[in-house]
Amino acid sequence: MSEEETIEINEMIIKCPACNVDGIATSMMKEIEIPHFGKVLETTIQCGKCGFKHSDIISLEHNDPAKYTLKISEETLSTRVVRSQSATVIIPEIGVKVEPGPKSEGYVTNVEGILTRFEGAVKKAMHLFNDNESQENAKNTLAEIHKLINGENTATLIINDPFGQSNIVSDDVIISEIPEEELKELKTGFSHIEDK
Ligand SMILES: [Zn+2]
Repeated sequence: MSEEETIEINEMIIKCPACNVDGIATSMMKEIEIPHFGKVLETTIQCGKCGFKHSDIISLEHNDPAKYTLKISEETLSTRVVRSQSATVIIPEIGVKVEPGPKSEGYVTNVEGILTRFEGAVKKAMHLFNDNESQENAKNTLAEIHKLINGENTATLIINDPFGQSNIVSDDVIISEIPEEELKELKTGFSHIEDK
């Protein structure tokens, strides 16, 4: 499979959004062409002084809300996945879900990379909730994730994106509309202020 191609890189020195020091952070904007998907813009801000780092990825193609569904199996572990910062990622069979928040990042990875990120999130949760039941649940979830990473089991990967800027780059992906009711429930990662 052909790899993505970097079209343009734009680097700037900016004021750090975290420590507010002028001319200390590097902002890198990369325009990337992903085969069978289109152009995306990857932005990375990194501060050498306070260690602040944030990356984001946005699709330069405009899209409607979309639900992407793929069967996770040994064959699809290397399938390219584009997750925009507003997308919710779910594996219903093992009960894991990542919703967008104000700090969520967009990224390009593959199915295995999504599983590794879930593994990291579960391990983090194990440190936060240390009662027996939570530990037991987390251990079971980790075991399920490992089976998927090793290609010993199958499950469903669902990405719900209200802005349709994510994608799973595969002929086997099912792209469908998000039902109205589900769309209302979706978090976008943006704060909403009621105007009354
Ligand atoms: Zn800084």
